[in-house]
Amino acid sequence: METTSEKKTTATQKLEEHNKRFKQRVEKVTEGVYSAIGYGLANSILICTDEGNIIIDTTESLSAAEKIKEEFDKISPKKTAAIIYTHGHTDHIRGASVFMDEDTEVYAHSKTKEFFNEQFNMLEPILTHRGARQFGIKVPRKYIPSSGLGPFLHMDRRKPEIIFPTKEFDNHLDIEIGGVHLQLVSAPGETDDHIYVWMPEKEIVFSADNYYPCFPNLYTIRGTTPRPVLGWINSLDKIRALNASIMVPSHAEPIYTKERVYELLTMYRDAIQYVHDGVIRGMNEGKTPDELVDDIQLPPKLTAYAELQELYGSIAQAIRAIFDGYVGWFDGNATNLSQLPNKDRAEKYIELAGGFDQVMTAISQAIYTEEYQWAAELSDLLLTVCPDNVEITNTKAEALFQLGLETANANNRSYYISQALELKGEIQLPERTKEIQYAFAKKMDIEQFFLKMKIILHPMKSSDTEVTINLYLNDQEQWYQLHIRRGVLEVQTNRAKNCDLEITTTADEWKQIILSIKDLSSSLDENLLEINGQPSTLEKVIHLFQV
Ligand SMILES: [Zn+2]
Repeated sequence: METTSEKKTTATQKLEEHNKRFKQRVEKVTEGVYSAIGYGLANSILICTDEGNIIIDTTESLSAAEKIKEEFDKISPKKTAAIIYTHGHTDHIRGASVFMDEDTEVYAHSKTKEFFNEQFNMLEPILTHRGARQFGIKVPRKYIPSSGLGPFLHMDRRKPEIIFPTKEFDNHLDIEIGGVHLQLVSAPGETDDHIYVWMPEKEIVFSADNYYPCFPNLYTIRGTTPRPVLGWINSLDKIRALNASIMVPSHAEPIYTKERVYELLTMYRDAIQYVHDGVIRGMNEGKTPDELVDDIQLPPKLTAYAELQELYGSIAQAIRAIFDGYVGWFDGNATNLSQLPNKDRAEKYIELAGGFDQVMTAISQAIYTEEYQWAAELSDLLLTVCPDNVEITNTKAEALFQLGLETANANNRSYYISQALELKGEIQLPERTKEIQYAFAKKMDIEQFFLKMKIILHPMKSSDTEVTINLYLNDQEQWYQLHIRRGVLEVQTNRAKNCDLEITTTADEWKQIILSIKDLSSSLDENLLEINGQPSTLEKVIHLFQV
């Protein structure tokens, strides 16, 4: 059996070796087509045309995008005619403002905007923090030799403006810019808004994240709705049927020759199908997710591919996600229909083990024998009854840190180490300021903003409040009625007959007031908001929202 120090060396070496794929460079794919690799987590791709440049994906940060633009400008200093987002993930869209010129069109699937709203609005708090852990963005680089999909997710201090698409489509869209003809085609995979781009004249497919050289992330630990696994296979089959001569993915190196492209796509779709079908088969036999995780491993003909190492996606996590996606959280065992409250269970286990001190000794023993998962699980048991105990917190941190070092899966490794360093107080997760929230909120449709308002309404503070507000947004010429009652906010798109307040303002002014970017008094002084009723009532309502 491999010792812990051997495991650590193997994990680190695998990631270091894998990271060579992302050596920073602008690779000339063919005349007029270039891929910038290793500047950001994702690639940015340049297609030169007589009427300006086409940029496929823009990386995650302004600093990465600026370096790429400098290189692209040496190849073709023309303006950017079009940006194409292959999907709405951060590592593909946040560098966009660097490439934008006055008339640049931004192409994306029609679901990209919806995806932005979900990611940056309602779920922004959880996804920001879990995403930061998954990519280890606060973790010293020496602990993370590769992020699996690229060298590292660079999040600079400058917060890029999110550029929304200007041209959207559902199934496919043919475009022609400066004599270059491209087909943009819906291809769900990591996300529902995912597309690939086909360049028929040169037989090049830009496959985005439908293929990258790691086992695919059929689930992501930062959190996702069930990923469309069958849709992903179908998308790979569509790409395979193109019989492309070159495939340029949005992560890692381009693939050359028809045979190699076909082989890798076939291998990839087979790996996904093998896991998917295995889960369904086992589920139908009555197996639980835990049992399926023990059962399902890829066959040797697939594990032989370096491109299927679990350095990014994880088969065990994919199995749980596929199970959950089809039948939900219940594993089928009646014991788990309703469980003992966490604290009761922990107390009973601790008593059974001979008391708190006995468990403490067992944790120290587990650390000594390098059984770090067991040490972490026992620490959680004690932390359930003594959540503020510093000694146990530090022991748990040590166990997670060691688990991280022996893990080759970049997402898990970063998550372990990030959480360990947070527990030790050595790093802090990114701050979420009201200014950052407003930067996105100002671009949101007002309906999306109402959704945010519902979530940030303080349920206890508002539990006895009963108020009806008619809100007229004069820039949109639309009435809304907002009811706050019993700790919930309901919004309807008309004017209530009876109300406590009537307010006239613009959508942007309203967003600024609710997010405490601006005081109500300044909006009133500047005549940007009118109230029919008591301003103090509105003041009280504003205080019910917690940014
Ligand atoms: Zn990506």
